[in-house]
Amino acid sequence: MTISTGSTTVAIDGPAGSGKSSVSKAAARVLGFGYLDTGAAYRALAWHCLEAGVDTLDPSDIAEELPRFEYTIGTDPDNYFVRVGADVITEDIREPRVTHIVSAVARVPEVRSYLVDLFRSIIAASERPGIIVEGRDITTVVAPDAPVRILLTASEEARMGRRSAELTGVDASATAKALSDRDAQDSRVVDFMNAADGVTTIDSTDLDFDQTVAAVVSLVRSAG
Ligand code: C5P
Repeated sequence: MTISTGSTTVAIDGPAGSGKSSVSKAAARVLGFGYLDTGAAYRALAWHCLEAGVDTLDPSDIAEELPRFEYTIGTDPDNYFVRVGADVITEDIREPRVTHIVSAVARVPEVRSYLVDLFRSIIAASERPGIIVEGRDITTVVAPDAPVRILLTASEEARMGRRSAELTGVDASATAKALSDRDAQDSRVVDFMNAADGVTTIDSTDLDFDQTVAAVVSLVRSAG
Protein backbone atom coordinates (compact mmCIF):
# COMPACT_ATOMS: atom_id res chain seq x y z
CA MET A 1 0.00 0.00 0.00
CA THR A 2 1.28 3.48 -0.81
CA ILE A 3 0.61 6.09 1.81
CA SER A 4 -0.38 9.38 0.21
CA THR A 5 1.26 11.96 2.40
CA GLY A 6 3.34 15.01 1.65
CA SER A 7 5.64 14.16 4.50
CA THR A 8 8.60 11.75 4.45
CA THR A 9 8.04 8.57 6.42
CA VAL A 10 11.05 7.16 8.26
CA ALA A 11 10.35 3.59 9.40
CA ILE A 12 12.40 2.21 12.31
CA ASP A 13 12.07 -1.31 13.72
CA GLY A 14 14.00 -3.15 16.37
CA PRO A 15 13.84 -5.30 19.48
CA ALA A 16 13.03 -4.16 23.02
CA GLY A 17 15.81 -2.15 24.61
CA SER A 18 17.43 -1.21 21.27
CA GLY A 19 16.88 2.46 22.11
CA LYS A 20 14.38 2.90 19.26
CA SER A 21 12.07 5.23 21.17
CA SER A 22 14.60 7.66 22.58
CA VAL A 23 16.70 7.64 19.39
CA SER A 24 13.62 8.17 17.18
CA LYS A 25 12.35 11.01 19.36
CA ALA A 26 15.74 12.76 19.38
CA ALA A 27 16.22 12.33 15.61
CA ALA A 28 12.71 13.73 15.03
CA ARG A 29 13.66 16.83 17.06
CA VAL A 30 16.83 17.39 15.04
CA LEU A 31 14.96 17.00 11.73
CA GLY A 32 11.81 18.93 12.75
CA PHE A 33 9.79 15.75 12.10
CA GLY A 34 6.90 14.17 13.98
CA TYR A 35 7.42 11.01 16.01
CA LEU A 36 5.05 8.06 16.25
CA ASP A 37 5.61 5.43 18.94
CA THR A 38 3.50 2.47 17.76
CA GLY A 39 4.27 0.25 20.76
CA ALA A 40 2.34 2.78 22.88
CA ALA A 41 -0.90 1.83 21.11
CA TYR A 42 -0.46 -1.88 21.89
CA ARG A 43 0.39 -0.95 25.47
CA ALA A 44 -2.59 1.42 25.76
CA LEU A 45 -4.93 -1.28 24.48
CA ALA A 46 -3.47 -3.74 27.01
CA TRP A 47 -3.99 -1.13 29.76
CA HIS A 48 -7.55 -0.49 28.59
CA CYS A 49 -8.33 -4.24 28.61
CA LEU A 50 -7.02 -4.52 32.19
CA GLU A 51 -9.14 -1.55 33.31
CA ALA A 52 -12.23 -2.87 31.51
CA GLY A 53 -11.84 -6.34 33.03
CA VAL A 54 -11.36 -7.99 29.63
CA ASP A 55 -9.96 -11.52 29.72
CA THR A 56 -6.60 -10.91 28.07
CA LEU A 57 -6.10 -14.63 27.54
CA ASP A 58 -9.10 -14.63 25.20
CA PRO A 59 -8.30 -13.15 21.75
CA SER A 60 -11.97 -12.71 20.83
CA ASP A 61 -12.69 -10.76 24.05
CA ILE A 62 -9.79 -8.45 23.18
CA ALA A 63 -10.98 -8.02 19.57
CA GLU A 64 -14.52 -7.20 20.77
CA GLU A 65 -13.15 -4.39 22.92
CA LEU A 66 -11.64 -2.51 19.95
CA PRO A 67 -14.72 -0.33 19.19
CA ARG A 68 -14.57 0.99 22.78
CA PHE A 69 -10.85 1.83 22.58
CA GLU A 70 -10.64 5.63 22.21
CA TYR A 71 -6.97 6.22 21.61
CA THR A 72 -5.00 9.45 21.15
CA ILE A 73 -1.22 9.88 20.93
CA GLY A 74 0.90 13.01 20.64
CA THR A 75 3.25 12.99 17.63
CA ASP A 76 5.17 16.15 18.61
CA PRO A 77 8.51 14.88 19.99
CA ASP A 78 8.39 17.72 22.53
CA ASN A 79 4.85 16.94 23.66
CA TYR A 80 4.57 13.18 23.87
CA PHE A 81 1.43 11.88 25.57
CA VAL A 82 -0.82 8.84 25.41
CA ARG A 83 -4.52 9.08 26.19
CA VAL A 84 -7.40 6.62 26.32
CA GLY A 85 -10.76 8.37 26.56
CA ALA A 86 -10.16 11.18 29.06
CA ASP A 87 -7.33 9.36 30.89
CA VAL A 88 -3.75 10.46 30.26
CA ILE A 89 -1.83 7.18 30.66
CA THR A 90 1.62 8.15 29.34
CA GLU A 91 3.35 6.66 32.41
CA ASP A 92 0.80 3.93 33.23
CA ILE A 93 1.48 2.03 29.99
CA ARG A 94 5.06 1.36 31.19
CA GLU A 95 3.86 -0.48 34.32
CA PRO A 96 5.03 -4.11 34.57
CA ARG A 97 1.40 -5.38 34.64
CA VAL A 98 0.96 -3.85 31.15
CA THR A 99 4.36 -4.94 29.80
CA HIS A 100 3.59 -8.45 31.02
CA ILE A 101 0.48 -8.89 28.85
CA VAL A 102 1.19 -6.60 25.89
CA SER A 103 2.60 -9.35 23.63
CA ALA A 104 -0.57 -11.43 24.07
CA VAL A 105 -2.68 -8.43 23.05
CA ALA A 106 -0.40 -7.63 20.11
CA ARG A 107 -0.62 -11.09 18.58
CA VAL A 108 -4.40 -10.91 18.05
CA PRO A 109 -4.82 -10.50 14.24
CA GLU A 110 -7.83 -8.11 14.56
CA VAL A 111 -5.79 -5.91 16.88
CA ARG A 112 -2.90 -5.76 14.43
CA SER A 113 -5.03 -4.86 11.42
CA TYR A 114 -7.00 -2.27 13.41
CA LEU A 115 -3.83 -0.60 14.70
CA VAL A 116 -1.98 -0.78 11.37
CA ASP A 117 -4.89 1.20 9.81
CA LEU A 118 -4.78 3.65 12.69
CA PHE A 119 -1.01 4.18 12.27
CA ARG A 120 -1.41 4.77 8.53
CA SER A 121 -4.05 7.41 9.15
CA ILE A 122 -1.86 9.16 11.73
CA ILE A 123 1.05 9.11 9.22
CA ALA A 124 -1.19 10.46 6.44
CA ALA A 125 -2.37 13.31 8.71
CA SER A 126 1.18 14.41 9.57
CA GLU A 127 1.68 18.09 8.90
CA ARG A 128 5.43 18.16 9.43
CA PRO A 129 8.01 17.63 6.65
CA GLY A 130 8.42 14.05 7.89
CA ILE A 131 7.47 11.57 10.58
CA ILE A 132 9.62 8.94 12.27
CA VAL A 133 7.56 5.85 13.01
CA GLU A 134 9.03 3.20 15.27
CA GLY A 135 7.94 -0.30 16.23
CA ARG A 136 8.36 -3.91 15.12
CA ASP A 137 6.57 -4.14 11.75
CA ILE A 138 6.92 -0.60 10.40
CA THR A 139 9.53 -1.40 7.71
CA THR A 140 7.62 -4.49 6.58
CA VAL A 141 3.88 -3.97 7.16
CA VAL A 142 2.90 -0.45 8.24
CA ALA A 143 5.09 1.53 5.81
CA PRO A 144 7.00 -0.86 3.51
CA ASP A 145 7.23 1.91 0.87
CA ALA A 146 8.85 4.43 3.22
CA PRO A 147 11.88 6.10 1.58
CA VAL A 148 13.97 5.47 4.70
CA ARG A 149 13.73 2.13 6.49
CA ILE A 150 16.00 1.22 9.38
CA LEU A 151 16.52 -1.77 11.63
CA LEU A 152 18.03 -0.54 14.88
CA THR A 153 19.81 -3.34 16.67
CA ALA A 154 22.30 -3.81 19.48
CA SER A 155 23.81 -6.91 21.03
CA GLU A 156 21.61 -8.62 23.59
CA GLU A 157 24.14 -7.71 26.29
CA ALA A 158 24.05 -4.00 25.39
CA ARG A 159 20.23 -3.95 25.27
CA MET A 160 19.85 -5.64 28.64
CA GLY A 161 22.45 -3.33 30.18
CA ARG A 162 20.73 -0.19 28.90
CA ARG A 163 17.31 -1.30 30.06
CA SER A 164 18.51 -2.22 33.57
CA ALA A 165 20.24 1.15 33.83
CA GLU A 166 16.88 2.84 33.07
CA LEU A 167 15.03 0.95 35.80
CA THR A 168 16.55 1.69 39.17
CA GLY A 169 15.99 -0.70 42.04
CA VAL A 170 15.03 -3.56 39.75
CA ASP A 171 16.88 -6.85 39.64
CA ALA A 172 19.02 -6.79 36.47
CA SER A 173 18.71 -10.50 35.74
CA ALA A 174 14.90 -10.40 36.09
CA THR A 175 14.82 -7.41 33.71
CA ALA A 176 17.01 -9.24 31.20
CA LYS A 177 14.80 -12.32 31.32
CA ALA A 178 11.56 -10.32 30.94
CA LEU A 179 13.02 -8.48 27.94
CA SER A 180 14.24 -11.58 26.15
CA ASP A 181 10.96 -13.43 26.87
CA ARG A 182 9.02 -10.54 25.34
CA ASP A 183 11.29 -10.46 22.27
CA ALA A 184 10.85 -14.21 21.85
CA GLN A 185 7.05 -13.90 21.99
CA ASP A 186 6.97 -10.85 19.71
CA SER A 187 9.30 -12.37 17.12
CA ARG A 188 6.88 -15.24 16.61
CA VAL A 189 4.46 -12.64 15.19
CA VAL A 190 6.83 -10.30 13.30
CA ASP A 191 10.48 -10.77 12.34
CA PHE A 192 12.20 -7.66 13.65
CA MET A 193 15.59 -9.29 14.26
CA ASN A 194 16.55 -9.52 10.57
CA ALA A 195 16.50 -6.64 8.12
CA ALA A 196 14.03 -7.07 5.25
CA ASP A 197 15.20 -6.29 1.68
CA GLY A 198 16.13 -2.63 1.31
CA VAL A 199 16.25 -1.99 5.07
CA THR A 200 19.45 -0.47 6.48
CA THR A 201 20.75 -1.94 9.73
CA ILE A 202 22.20 0.43 12.33
CA ASP A 203 23.97 -1.60 15.01
CA SER A 204 24.28 0.62 18.07
CA THR A 205 26.27 -1.84 20.21
CA ASP A 206 29.41 0.28 19.99
CA LEU A 207 27.74 3.66 19.46
CA ASP A 208 26.71 6.05 22.19
CA PHE A 209 23.30 7.73 22.13
CA ASP A 210 24.38 10.84 20.18
CA GLN A 211 26.25 8.76 17.61
CA THR A 212 23.16 6.61 17.06
CA VAL A 213 20.93 9.66 16.60
CA ALA A 214 23.50 11.12 14.18
CA ALA A 215 23.52 7.87 12.16
CA VAL A 216 19.71 8.01 11.77
CA VAL A 217 19.72 11.72 10.90
CA SER A 218 22.43 11.27 8.27
CA LEU A 219 20.56 8.38 6.61
CA VAL A 220 17.42 10.51 6.42
CA ARG A 221 19.35 13.49 5.01
CA SER A 222 21.13 11.37 2.43
CA ALA A 223 17.79 9.95 1.26
CA GLY A 224 16.22 13.39 0.97
O1 C5P B 1 7.98 -0.71 21.65
P1 C5P B 1 7.39 -1.27 22.92
O2 C5P B 1 8.34 -2.17 23.66
O3 C5P B 1 6.77 -0.24 23.80
O4 C5P B 1 6.21 -2.19 22.39
C1 C5P B 1 5.35 -2.86 23.28
C2 C5P B 1 4.80 -4.11 22.61
O5 C5P B 1 3.92 -3.76 21.55
C3 C5P B 1 5.84 -5.05 21.99
O6 C5P B 1 6.38 -5.93 22.97
C4 C5P B 1 5.01 -5.78 20.94
O7 C5P B 1 4.27 -6.84 21.54
C5 C5P B 1 4.00 -4.73 20.50
N1 C5P B 1 4.33 -4.03 19.25
C6 C5P B 1 4.01 -4.64 18.05
N2 C5P B 1 4.21 -3.99 16.87
C7 C5P B 1 4.71 -2.75 16.86
C8 C5P B 1 5.07 -2.11 18.08
C9 C5P B 1 4.89 -2.80 19.25
O8 C5P B 1 3.54 -5.79 18.07
N3 C5P B 1 4.86 -2.11 15.71
